[in-house]
Amino acid sequence: MKLVFATNNPHKLKELKHLLGDSFHLLSLSEIDCTDNIPETGNNLEENALQKSEYIFKKYNLNCFADDTGLEIEALNNEPGVYSARYAGLENNSEANMQKVLSKMRDITNRKARFRTIISLILDGKKFQFEGLVNGSILEERKGSEGFGYDPIFVPDGYEQSFAEMDITLKNKISHRGKAVQKLVKFLKNI
Ligand code: IMP
Repeated sequence: MKLVFATNNPHKLKELKHLLGDSFHLLSLSEIDCTDNIPETGNNLEENALQKSEYIFKKYNLNCFADDTGLEIEALNNEPGVYSARYAGLENNSEANMQKVLSKMRDITNRKARFRTIISLILDGKKFQFEGLVNGSILEERKGSEGFGYDPIFVPDGYEQSFAEMDITLKNKISHRGKAVQKLVKFLKNI
């Protein structure tokens, strides 16, 4: 089945191709010649994911899904949440975003945090939603160089390594996006 993944993030695409395997022909935005800056103006992850998938479905009439992810830190009232990509002001500046988190958390002992992913799927015009969560904690400094975004400062519960010290297979197995995608794949295989 042909399915558009509404992202331009090469890391996410790589993770998703790995998870979906050969049963699906996953197309990126560039593969459908979409260079639009798709709006993400929702108040929460659910609204943003839906907004992105609706944009593609309406414009291209193709089955598609979009994800939106946020890092929710308990001691910061679930910040950065829906603002994770632009927490430090600039869009997707991971270094600055991590620096802001580390500075805000400097004297805070409660390091609990979670990543949450929402996937919005539109299939022949019908809308579906899947959620994935991973609980963990925020480190005091960056560790590791794999992955992307906030990976170097997040350690999932039950592990010593940060996400940025894990290989992609392990991260996919336990991560927020991995769990949301596992639900998506299970759903798609049963239709
Ligand atoms: P978006 O859902 O791609 O817009 O992600 C929002 C923000 O969360 C971006 O700054 C990403 O870098 C970050 N992010 C998304 N997924 C992950 C992840 O798996 N690990 C670390 N950071 C992530």
